[in-house]
Amino acid sequence: MSYPVITLKKGKDESLKRFHPWVFSGAIAQQPQGLEEGQVVEVRSASGQLMGVGHFQIGSIMVRMLEFGNLREINQEFFAERLQAAFELRKALKLIRPDNNAYRLVHGEGDFLPGLVVDIYGTTAVVQAHSPGMHFCRDIIAETLTEIPGLSVANVYYKSETTLPYKARLDPQNDYIIGQYSGSVAMENGLQFNIDWLRGQKTGFFVDQRDNRSLLEHFSKGRKVLNMFCYTGGFSVYALRGGAKLVHSVDSSAKAIELTKANVEMNFPDCDRHEAIVADAFKYLAEIKKGQYDLIVLDPPAFAKHRSALHNALQGYRRLNARAMEQIAPGGILFTFSCSQAVSREQFRLAVFSAAAQTGRKVRILHQMTQPADHPINIYHPEGEYLKGLILQVE
Ligand code: SAH
Repeated sequence: MSYPVITLKKGKDESLKRFHPWVFSGAIAQQPQGLEEGQVVEVRSASGQLMGVGHFQIGSIMVRMLEFGNLREINQEFFAERLQAAFELRKALKLIRPDNNAYRLVHGEGDFLPGLVVDIYGTTAVVQAHSPGMHFCRDIIAETLTEIPGLSVANVYYKSETTLPYKARLDPQNDYIIGQYSGSVAMENGLQFNIDWLRGQKTGFFVDQRDNRSLLEHFSKGRKVLNMFCYTGGFSVYALRGGAKLVHSVDSSAKAIELTKANVEMNFPDCDRHEAIVADAFKYLAEIKKGQYDLIVLDPPAFAKHRSALHNALQGYRRLNARAMEQIAPGGILFTFSCSQAVSREQFRLAVFSAAAQTGRKVRILHQMTQPADHPINIYHPEGEYLKGLILQVE
């Protein structure tokens, strides 16, 4: 067995020897004519040493490595082995329980499957390809998912219309590859959520906030909670279970507010402690009464999708956090997040520090938050760490 060979420039094999999973265009000395998007290629050092195999792609990241040091066939056996290992990890993490069936099964590079994301909601798997190579493997992946004993996936929904590189012209259709719609209510820590993978953002739900929602539950008793950027109302439902006095969920999208209302109603029918409001975050925070809330959650969308937007993103985080710190009641608790990959943990913390300094209030960090263990970070690929958050007490 052999694949087309990509040869690296001298010295450019160092990062691959340290298992970094990407080969950038600038590292390549030679590639065969006519290579197509998504093809499996062999990567070799300048001296001809085999580095491994990966999926080829046109762009700044040219190869996403699937296997290091071996000339391995990328077939059903390969996917069965990787997906099984991913499943074993989630089992060991005790994420698969009668009261919890929403979790991430595959987190790209963190599960040694660059370009692939799989979220599980009960018996449905939602699959996202971020590389042409994974797009071409979608049928094998779907079939393999239904065959893993104990995983009990019956339906596989493929959702890659917005995640694949536009220039590759793959024209993916969002649709079921296997099975069909068979209910969309999933459980997270004993709470029910209606997950809209057809119309929702990403795969329909942000499973990455599970542990942080649990933390919020423990801070909620007797508090007046503002859940800003609520989307499906995840934090709101946990706050209600935690005994919050009242919870206000705010999002600029009317659709998100409908989702939140429905999720609250499903868990707490006729709840008079909850209100959901369509509003812009900055406007809402400017108009509320000082001290109206003593627990505020800020979980905005990624302010910086690319490095070029970094400066504006940091200003955005500073302004947003300053607004919340100005308004929060004395002794209030602020949960503040950034999910921008381009913003480092230190940069985010500095933006929040500037916000605190600007308001002149005493602020303490109680907890530092990150993404949960079903979103593992490959240590050789620190770019995979994207979610960071702080729990602050504002005197
Ligand atoms: N906290 C949510 C995820 C938030 S996603 C969870 O736990 O699942 C980000 C949300 O911010 C989206 O629902 C989007 O509609 C909303 N949003 C974006 N810009 C906004 C703005 N300026 N004001 C209020 N909401 C906004």
